Amino acid sequence: MPTIHWFRRDLRLTDNPALLASVAQADETGDDVVPLFVVDPALWRSAGAPRLAYLTHSLQALDESLDGRLVVRHGPPAEVVPAVAREVAAPAVHVTAATEPFGRRRDEAVEQALGVPLVRTGSPYAVAPGRLTTQAGTPFQVFTPFRGAWLDHGWSAPAGRPRQARWADVPSDGVPAGPETDVRLPPAGEQEAHAHWSQFLADGLAEYPTLRNRPDLDGTSMLSIPLKYGELHPRTLLADLSRAQFDTGTFRSELAWREFHADVLWHHPGAARQSLRTVVPEDSWDPGDAAFEAWAAGRTGYPFVDAGMRQLRALGWMHNRVRMVVASFLVKDLHVRWQRGAQHFMDWLVDGDVPQNQLNWQWVAGTGRDAAPYFRVFNPVTQGERFDPDGSYVRQWVPELRGVPGRAVHQPWRLGLEAPEDYPDPIVDHATERKVALDDFHRGRD
Ligand code: FAD
Repeated sequence: MPTIHWFRRDLRLTDNPALLASVAQADETGDDVVPLFVVDPALWRSAGAPRLAYLTHSLQALDESLDGRLVVRHGPPAEVVPAVAREVAAPAVHVTAATEPFGRRRDEAVEQALGVPLVRTGSPYAVAPGRLTTQAGTPFQVFTPFRGAWLDHGWSAPAGRPRQARWADVPSDGVPAGPETDVRLPPAGEQEAHAHWSQFLADGLAEYPTLRNRPDLDGTSMLSIPLKYGELHPRTLLADLSRAQFDTGTFRSELAWREFHADVLWHHPGAARQSLRTVVPEDSWDPGDAAFEAWAAGRTGYPFVDAGMRQLRALGWMHNRVRMVVASFLVKDLHVRWQRGAQHFMDWLVDGDVPQNQLNWQWVAGTGRDAAPYFRVFNPVTQGERFDPDGSYVRQWVPELRGVPGRAVHQPWRLGLEAPEDYPDPIVDHATERKVALDDFHRGRD
């Protein structure tokens, strides 16, 4: 009677406690493990093409590391997983726990239909969302004390790789072809993720605290993608960080933000769609489609914003500093509700992840837990001048501005007759819209 390991956001063999649990159970009776992946039509309908394309690449890599034995089946998990369990007479189905609203609902439905235990071991986080509480026993509202409790709690050592696992030979529909996309995807799979992390450890991590805010330099890890698909577990990263010869606190703090957002969403599943706090009256939002379309296409006339939005379309990824600036611009300069921007990000980001995306949008919009205050409005020009000081990030992503030298590229409207003709004028005046946003904020407080 083979056990089943149902892969979801844990597309790896190393440091995967749920996989080890399924192998251990199979070992007791000398049986095999069925490595299962379910192509869920609900997910396939809603996920953006870059995410689906990357997922299929990652599944191909996983299949190779399983000697071609990955069992792929199509259909709603609440039907498919029980059907496979019956087919192979499995005594249990093992999973890494899902902690976000969609996955939790899906797993409850599967559990009810299954007839054998659905065994949850571990989660995609170093500390499972919901585990940490304040001394009063309530969920954390603020990041800094959460991070303190998270560090105090600690995490287990990485779990290793199953030795001598036998993968069952069960019919598979094969890894589906991903959708066509023009996005330039990075190489996928556990092996690539480890190689990328090793290189960043050796060449990037020491400089991370000074370079992490510079989109013009290659200063961040780009690990959000392997973390999203579980090709790497944060426990593995944290163990390596603790062995580094220099201070790795800044990088660890960023991982703590990831855990904080997952924890907030665990306690407030509604935050995936609704603001956690109301900061402006409802009538402050949504000026119509034209402004949103200009933002999405990277044609707002603000070069730093446009560079970010075009980087998103080219790579399915955007630097964190620029994500903050483009999100602030949409919400506070264009007065579009954060949910529309978050959906656009989910359509394009390869690392698009509900807890991180929605809660970061709420942070920028000032509606989240421990969010930036609403009256903090990023200035798209000074942010560009500060974090892209010689303008090379803008010139990389906005070809119309390639002929404009130095930091002048952040304000092309000042070039007069020299301004490139094919680049738009600013669609709004930042100073004016900032005032509108602040007036809305004060109206909301009256
Ligand atoms: P690094 O700077 O190398 O950071 C290392 C890791 O720390 C990241 O891989 C990530 O896991 C974590 N991290 C860093 N910054 C944050 C943060 N602000 N919040 C949570 N975790 C963080 N991240 C996603 O993974 N998926 C998303 O869908 C997503 N949407 C975002 C939307 C907006 C509006 C904003 C402002 C941020 C969003 N982020 C999201 C967070 C952050 O921008 C990315 O995690 C980061 O840019 C990924 O690049 P990196 O791996 O090179 O980061």
